[in-house]
Amino acid sequence: MKRLQVLIIGGGIGGLTCAIALRRDGHAVDLIERDPKWSVYGVGIIQQGNVVRAMVQLGVIDDYLGAGFGFDHVEVFIPTGRSVARIPTPALVEGYPANVGIGRPALHKVLGDRTIAAGTKVRLGVIAERLAEDGNGVSVSFSDGTNAGYDLVVGADGLYSTTRDQILPNSEKPEFTGQAVWRYNFPRLPEVRELCAYEGPTGVGLVPLSEQLMYMYVTTPEPGNPWYQRAGLAAAMRSRLESVPAPVIRKLAEQIVDDDAVVYRPLEWLFLKGDWHKGRVVLIGDAVHTTTPHLGQGAGMAIEDSIVLAEELTAAGTLDEALHAFRERRFERCRYIVQSSLAICLGQIGKGPVVESAKATREMFIRVAAPI
Ligand SMILES: Cc1cc2nc3c(=O)[nH]c(=O)nc-3n(C[C@H](O)[C@H](O)[C@H](O)COP(=O)(O)OP(=O)(O)OC[C@H]3O[C@@H](n4cnc5c(N)ncnc54)[C@H](O)[C@@H]3O)c2cc1C
Repeated sequence: MKRLQVLIIGGGIGGLTCAIALRRDGHAVDLIERDPKWSVYGVGIIQQGNVVRAMVQLGVIDDYLGAGFGFDHVEVFIPTGRSVARIPTPALVEGYPANVGIGRPALHKVLGDRTIAAGTKVRLGVIAERLAEDGNGVSVSFSDGTNAGYDLVVGADGLYSTTRDQILPNSEKPEFTGQAVWRYNFPRLPEVRELCAYEGPTGVGLVPLSEQLMYMYVTTPEPGNPWYQRAGLAAAMRSRLESVPAPVIRKLAEQIVDDDAVVYRPLEWLFLKGDWHKGRVVLIGDAVHTTTPHLGQGAGMAIEDSIVLAEELTAAGTLDEALHAFRERRFERCRYIVQSSLAICLGQIGKGPVVESAKATREMFIRVAAPI
């Protein structure tokens, strides 16, 4: 297909990787991000071999690995702190690690720098107020009073996507699961060189992010989706850890003292069973499939979306064919990640059958190893 004039709405992981993939293929790309500071909360993210493979395809692998911490095993502990398994995880690209822990700010810097260097025009503090489509393109009115025309608009504006509200107002809505995650950064302990997962009624994980940094996540049932004010968040997170006797966790819990450094997030999910685009506007990433983090694949799915969308735009004869082919290639893989992650989540909080998480994780590694 000819080179397109593309607008990407949203400068998160999905929007940035989409900008990198589309610029690589020669499209002209504008990106708008609502947040004038383009800020990202300071904890980290776990990514697996399929993301490493995607980063190779996007040409950012060296910067990405330089900013993160690669590892090839996951160690599983029972709540007392006894190690019960050390599971090898498959690398998909020879010479690169099977998994990467990376701080969200570090990941956004790698992707944001590359997006700008590759020639995407980024505007911050701007939203698209109106998308008006005629047969030839989409005319967009921006909140800063400007207007522009595009061949394609990509909605990468996350779980509460207003692009989705505009084009598919009757589609599914985000649902709260009943579970939430508490996260906190620490100086990395020398022994935390891979994901250390503590199983039990309160799930805890320690994730290396760099030589200096690691983070802890704690998943807890939070019936009714309570709202917590910032003052007291550190004490609340410490109290959630009281049921975990592992000495290393007890010691770390004592260091959770800064309310501002606690990142609390209710877990929600969304999956659009119907269309993923309307006319010349398409949705990618969390805007169309938001998973809970139990398989660590939400951002991975957004990144893969970007690569597949770019490939289909190149391969297809028309835009409509490309957008249909994009959904076709992504639907089952994303559905599987959302549903399997949700099943683990609901099992943990007694809202569904218990899922053996090691088995589910092994299956996920096999599924995401398949080509996209
Ligand atoms: C607790 C938790 C832990 C997670 N852990 C992992 C993990 O370990 N591994 C993993 O792979 N995934 C993980 N995820 C999932 C991952 O964070 C998401 O899947 C990923 O961030 C989705 O990227 P996105 O770009 O689609 O959306 P987002 O990250 O939500 O980005 C959307 C962007 O659009 C901007 N925006 C919103 N509205 C507008 C608008 N109207 N106009 C312009 N800009 C707008 C936002 O400011 C934001 O910058 C986790 C998620 C949660 C909740």
